[in-house]
Amino acid sequence: MSGLLSYVKNIFETVTTVFEGMTITFSHLARRPMTVQYPDRIAKPVQETLPKRYRGILEVDLDICTGCLACERVCPIACITIGVDMNKETKQRTFGHFDIDICKCMYCGLCAEACPTGSIRHSQEFEGASYNPAGLVRHFVTKQVPLYKPKKGGETDPTMAKKVEIGLEYLDEFATPEGPGGAGGAGAGEG
Ligand code: SF4
Ligand code: SF4
Repeated sequence: MSGLLSYVKNIFETVTTVFEGMTITFSHLARRPMTVQYPDRIAKPVQETLPKRYRGILEVDLDICTGCLACERVCPIACITIGVDMNKETKQRTFGHFDIDICKCMYCGLCAEACPTGSIRHSQEFEGASYNPAGLVRHFVTKQVPLYKPKKGGETDPTMAKKVEIGLEYLDEFATPEGPGGAGGAGAGEG
């Protein structure tokens, strides 16, 4: 008899447990979803919500790059390769290539900190997926660009002056985080 009772009790507990579980599950049908459908159903692109010091995929403004190679030398895993050529006609030194392998990059920020002009900097971009590993190497030289030479009395060309200002502002906020406007050391991906 006790065997039958235990059998019936087990069936009862199984049914009530399943019912309790399903009650919780079904209650979610009437609640607002907590999940967000990324990337196309968000009110604002995530990139626009990231802080300025976020360490996203590196970008380079070659117009204010002096070709000093400080970033290439400081990179602990050799993600950056820069080639400088001499243009025999103009006698100007120009970039042959300036490549960054974002697949190898660990977003440590050392290159951006070492840059004297703020031409290499972390962007707010983080979507770098590619079907092909070669697609993860960013090539910044697309045409002959001469090395930038800072002017002694400051930039007179307004376009260049703006670029220099943006670079220096970035350095101020990124490389010297304890300075004015700084917010202390940030880990990868933090502001
Ligand atoms: S962020 Fe770090 S790992 Fe990436 S290129 Fe710069 S120095 Fe190299
Ligand atoms: S990006 Fe900056 S550190 Fe790198 S070569 Fe250009 S000026 Fe020098």
